[in-house]
Amino acid sequence: MKTIYLDNNATTRVADEVFAEMQPLFCEFYGNPSSMHSFGGRVEKKIIQARHQAAALLGCEPAEIVFTSGGTESDNAAIKGILAANPAKRKIITTRVEHPAVLTTCRELERHGYIVYELAVDSRGQIDIDELRRNLDDNTAVVSIMWANNETGVIFPIEQIGGLCRSYGVPFHSDAVQAVGKIPFNLSNFPVDMISLSGHKLHGPKGVGVLYVRKGTKIVPFMFGGHQESGRRAGTENVPGIVGLGKACELAMKNMQHENSRVKLLRDKLENAILKTCPNATINGDKVNRLPNTTNISFEFIEGEAILMLLDQYGICASSGSACSSGSLEPSHVLRAMGVPFTAAHGSIRFSLSIYNTEQEIDFVIEKMPIIVNRLRQLSPFVKV
Ligand SMILES: *Cc1c(COP(=O)(O)O)cnc(C)c1O
Repeated sequence: MKTIYLDNNATTRVADEVFAEMQPLFCEFYGNPSSMHSFGGRVEKKIIQARHQAAALLGCEPAEIVFTSGGTESDNAAIKGILAANPAKRKIITTRVEHPAVLTTCRELERHGYIVYELAVDSRGQIDIDELRRNLDDNTAVVSIMWANNETGVIFPIEQIGGLCRSYGVPFHSDAVQAVGKIPFNLSNFPVDMISLSGHKLHGPKGVGVLYVRKGTKIVPFMFGGHQESGRRAGTENVPGIVGLGKACELAMKNMQHENSRVKLLRDKLENAILKTCPNATINGDKVNRLPNTTNISFEFIEGEAILMLLDQYGICASSGSACSSGSLEPSHVLRAMGVPFTAAHGSIRFSLSIYNTEQEIDFVIEKMPIIVNRLRQLSPFVKV
């Protein structure tokens, strides 16, 4: 059975061109980029190239790129790095719908005495800029608000948020892991001081990411060791990963416009067909300000996990809004923050597409979804069909 992979917000397939670029760095060009000999120097050149490729995608200076071990590290390094550089300020502003890499980090910092304010979202998953304005003050060390949400695809008004932060002189970090590679970036004249991105969300390898740090933004590294990354991130570089990420950035830049319009058409086709064929289905999140590849759909009165299991029997990979942890089915914190009713939040499914999806695959899913939903509704104790 063929796998139909519609879980690209969880991770993506490494592009063939990326893999080819990485391969020689394992057994052929395995030198340490910090070495004085030319064998290491050749490897250093590859890292410099990757830094330029990442900077080109983001529209920033190569010197503003810090390679990390992924999105999670970038988020931690940004928030903790700013706090350490401004010890007198004790307040962090974020949102209720962040990825756990930001949310759990902030809640842990709260346990250590920081004041954390989590902005609410409305039913579309959007924040209220006035709530942010009301909470910015002299004590605020950092604002961290994601560029686009991983569960719903909702895109936040980053330029407005950043402008407001700037008028208060507060550093602004954005987790842009889901946005980079899907929407265009030009950070050179944009009011954001730090962003996080992750290789494996844009057809690069896992375990490598970038923290963009605007020139002049002071952060204290949270790991100490060698002088790598201009003293901003110690540790011998993950050279194959960095080279792969660089190539993935180059590909994303080349393909973004053409591929994303195609992906958006497929996403819209899937979404519209499901709404038409499956009763009591609704889209979660702002339909206008949304990533082109993501749809999050609630099916009332049935369990997301059950839908996933039946999809899996057809070889279709998607993800559900609830995380089955320690035996208790908790609906997603994102959907809960949006006020999605319990019965709908439990039955939510996220389809996230990529450039590798075909129309044939989408047609197959469109054919199977009503069969799955009707079957589960017949079993549901809540509904008479
Ligand atoms: C995947 C993801 C992360 C974590 O990135 P890793 O590289 O897996 O650590 C952080 N934020 C968002 C929004 C993500 O989707």
